[in-house]
Order: sequence, then C-alpha cells, then structure tokens
Amino acid sequence: MKQFILLLFLLVSYGCFSQNEQENYQKVVSEFQTSYNSSQDENVYALFDSSLKAFLSLEQTSELLDTVRSNFGRMKKMEFWTIHNSAHVYRTTFEKGVCDLFFTLNEKNLISGFFIPKNNTENTSRFARNVTNMIFPFKEEAFVFWGGETVEANYHMADINQQYAYDILMVANGAPYKGDPSKNKSYFIFGKDIIAPCDAKVVQVIKGIKDNLPGVLNTTDITGNTLVLETAQKEYLLFAHLKANSIRVQEGDKVKQGQVIAQCGNSGNTSQAHLHLQLQNTPDIFNTIGTKLYFEELIRNGQIKKQYMPVKEDFIKNTSKITH
Ligand SMILES: [Zn+2]
Repeated sequence: MKQFILLLFLLVSYGCFSQNEQENYQKVVSEFQTSYNSSQDENVYALFDSSLKAFLSLEQTSELLDTVRSNFGRMKKMEFWTIHNSAHVYRTTFEKGVCDLFFTLNEKNLISGFFIPKNNTENTSRFARNVTNMIFPFKEEAFVFWGGETVEANYHMADINQQYAYDILMVANGAPYKGDPSKNKSYFIFGKDIIAPCDAKVVQVIKGIKDNLPGVLNTTDITGNTLVLETAQKEYLLFAHLKANSIRVQEGDKVKQGQVIAQCGNSGNTSQAHLHLQLQNTPDIFNTIGTKLYFEELIRNGQIKKQYMPVKEDFIKNTSKITH
C-alpha cells in the first residue's frame, strides 16, 4: 500500500533509551520554532541534514510550512512530550490548535526526519501495543508479506500513520495466486472471510468502491472499502482494501470476536488482493499513530506462539482453541 500522508517522517535506527529530552534537541527545536514563526524557511532548511534535503527541496519545504502556517498559525509553545521510536515528540500549541511534532536528529545535530500531522492530535491516547486480546482475522492460514519493526521487513514503518501495519496474503507453492494473475479470483486470499479479532464497535465504514483489476491501482480511494473497529480500550483496528459489497456491518454495530465482518478484496490503492491491517490510536486513518498489534495465540510456521507480533514471511494461523 502506498503512503498516505503529507509530510515525511524518516526513521533512524540509532538507539535512544531515555524518555527525557536531550539538550541538543532543545536547541534545534527552538531554532525550528523561531524560524517557522518568522517565515524564514531557509533557516529551517539549514537545520536539515543532507538526506532530508535530498528528499525535500527548499521550495517544497516552504510549501509544506506555508500549509502548516495557514492551517495552524504560529507556534506559541513547544513542549517536550515523549520519545517515540527514537523521535523526540513535542506537543506544540499553535494559534489554531495543538499538534504533536516529531523530530529526529543525526549525530551532527541536523534534522534527519520530522513529521507534522495534518490535524490536531491533542488528547490522543498513547499506548505501546494492544492490551485487548486479539485473534487473527482469518480462519485459514495466511502469509505475512510485510510485518515487523524494521523498514526492511515492513515498509509501513516509514510512515508513522501506518507503522507496524501488516499486509497479509495467502500463499501456496510460493505464489499468492493460481491460474490467471490478471483475475482477482485467482488470488487465494480474495473473497476470504475476515473475522473480528475481538469484541468491538464499528466506528467507520467506507464502502461502494469497486475491486481493481490486479495491477491497476485506484489512487483516489486510498484504503478502498474499509472498516475501523474500536475496542473497549479505545484501540482502533483498520481493515483496508476489502472486497466490493462484502462489508456486513454498519457504523455503530457491536461485533463479537470471531464474527465475519467482511471479505478480503482488492479495492483502493493496491495492486493485488491483500489485507492491510493495522492498530492505531485514533479512528482517523490519516491522522493517527500506528501501534504494535500482538495476537494472543497463533500457530507460526507450525509452532504455537503466545502474545506474538508476526513478521515478514511468517505463515500464521489461529489455534483451534480460539478459531470460531
Ligand atoms: Zn499495507
């Protein structure tokens, strides 16, 4: 699946184990704030490292900052909030709202990544992983195409909205389809039932989107037919690319663990049938933080795993104990 969001966030891998603000960040972030407020975008740009500059020109940086200025106004206060995946998070009070801004610095104290959400994030809950026990949303064995905590294993890690997401396929003899790959029905996972991982409330339904022909992307309706479930703990599960006309629930419905809620499809910005599944800390898929999704008990490559977060190339299946 393609990335959703307007500003980039580049993850860096050097360690940072403290939850306290580092002094070097304080200085850079304060310069960032001053330059942003005085519209001296070339000074903001001067804080970027070469990889970020390669990604973003000065003109593009100016455009992005202008968008933020017109949406939110000046930054009145930037308060260190937490450290998230090596990034320093600053809860920033703008004239027109409150946002959490993410920064990473390289070893020369230049900005190697930053992220500014499109909307306010004040009062978003923060959790490191799900506390609600989950079963895997398929009855059959499935294959993890993208999953895990590194960009190599899981390209979703490059985008904070989607980090820790899974792209799920079903595979036999090393291939996700049998027969003609230009037909959706050739893909093993296409049309398979998706079951609710836990008791939950349906908080968003997007439907009415056709399945793509394999290889033809719908770049308008990014997530395609979509469901978002809310757990009792206000954790949000997003299911994207669902099959046209397969969603069996409506907004406001309560669903039970194991209940069939939809079928896997090929709608939205996707090249072939798969399930994009993620846990997030708000209902809004375009303004959220992707979070680790563990399953209570799975059979992984033939072995039982408890409280497991699948990774790329795992074959996984619910245990018979919790399969409904
Ligand atoms: Zn995906």
